[in-house]
Amino acid sequence: MGVRHAVGVGSGTDGLLLSLMALDVGPGDEVITSPFTFFATAGVIALLGARPVFVDIDPVTFNLDHVKLGDLLDAACKQGRRFKAIMPVSLYGQCADMDEIGKVASQYGIPVVEDACQSFGATYKARRSCGLSGMEVTSFYPTKPLGCYGDGGMVFTDDDLIAGRLKSLRNHGQKDRYRHEEIGLNARLDAVQAAVLLVRFSHFEDELPLRQAAATRYEALLSEFQSHVKTPLVLSGRTSVFAQYTIRVAPEGRDGLARSLSEKGIPTAIHYPVPLHIQPAFCYLGIQKGSLPEAESAANEVLSLPIHPFITEGEQVAVVQAIGEYYGVV
Ligand SMILES: *Cc1c(COP(=O)(O)O)cnc(C)c1O
Repeated sequence: MGVRHAVGVGSGTDGLLLSLMALDVGPGDEVITSPFTFFATAGVIALLGARPVFVDIDPVTFNLDHVKLGDLLDAACKQGRRFKAIMPVSLYGQCADMDEIGKVASQYGIPVVEDACQSFGATYKARRSCGLSGMEVTSFYPTKPLGCYGDGGMVFTDDDLIAGRLKSLRNHGQKDRYRHEEIGLNARLDAVQAAVLLVRFSHFEDELPLRQAAATRYEALLSEFQSHVKTPLVLSGRTSVFAQYTIRVAPEGRDGLARSLSEKGIPTAIHYPVPLHIQPAFCYLGIQKGSLPEAESAANEVLSLPIHPFITEGEQVAVVQAIGEYYGVV
């Protein structure tokens, strides 16, 4: 990843939590993130007593919109509001606009933590995801691009002090045996999972082009149904690791399409059906429905199709055929 430290942790969630702890995030602080992500991203902010502040997404990449981020920081910082961290998410396997986000963040002196739980293996301007900001977190949950056989995660940083704190915090703040300098938790990477990862990691580079080839095949096959299906767009200068292959369809037919595929034995998933600002757990934030319209429409329109390095062309043809049948085009 081009960084000096890779600290194994118990899961992606643990990695996100420890990163914020290493930045001393606590009660009364505000941390900016995306409303269109897995719950953990904002969950860890709230767990530390801080307040998640959501900035809407870019409708093309589904990642935090850096223009809206700049607008929020301009307006809020003029009123004296300070933010403790910014957590962009590199969703579906494509990096967020890390340079642009980094630029506004450094203008206001705010550290950036990339939630790279879905983008391990992606590249951004010839650099790797997990080496693009001060701290990056990935997950090795089995469904992620590099999966172990249970829970696992890793935090990447160039900062020696932060790396030291992460190593201490993941082990109950222990410096020497049974000498605890601060309060941490058990968030270590399990040794058995680490052993699995060492083997799987040795094949990882070979799997990346297979994932990309599968995505390219979907794109070609789905081009016939352009009026019904929007395929994912990878911006220039980037490669996606396609943790998900997520299409976008009209909201009124989306759930019907998922059902119809399921009846034909084709599994799909919705990443994610409810944006975080309108999750019951965050209703105390008092954010109105309709206030983050891009995240809300994405939640109604996305559908992830089966993808992995070993999916066959025949299987992909069958998936696309079933989509065509649903829309009555084949
Ligand atoms: C999977 C995931 C997480 C959490 O990782 P775990 O290892 O399941 O704890 C956090 N953020 C995103 C975007 C994820 O996809």
